[in-house]
Amino acid sequence: MQKKILFVDDDKFLLDMYALKFSKAGYEVKTADSTEVALKELRDGYDPDVMLVDIVMPGMDGLEFVGTVRKEKLAGKTSIIMLTNQGASDDIAKAKKLSVDGYIVKATSIPSEVLDEVEKIYKSKKQ
Ligand SMILES: [Mg+2]
Repeated sequence: MQKKILFVDDDKFLLDMYALKFSKAGYEVKTADSTEVALKELRDGYDPDVMLVDIVMPGMDGLEFVGTVRKEKLAGKTSIIMLTNQGASDDIAKAKKLSVDGYIVKATSIPSEVLDEVEKIYKSKKQ
């Protein structure tokens, strides 16, 4: 079965880049350029295996989004990975409180590294 992955990021260039990389690697990819769009998908019953969530976004940010996902018990089995900016240690602390499955530092991560990291985090969660 193809793994389903949802990317939530306001940077359309990144979304396209990750979508291409992950679909080539056999994933079924969905993208959302805002947390509002992503929430609608999840509330409509979309249940991805993995979700990559940017933190800094206009409107509801990524941390608030994951908080809402937790509160509404959406995406219960989904591995949630935050895309963080370098040095944003309080973001990481906040994300830990929301029990996310991992973090990837955005600035330093090229798509193939992101892919490796996602697979590593996903596998460790399944064990
Ligand atoms: Mg952003």
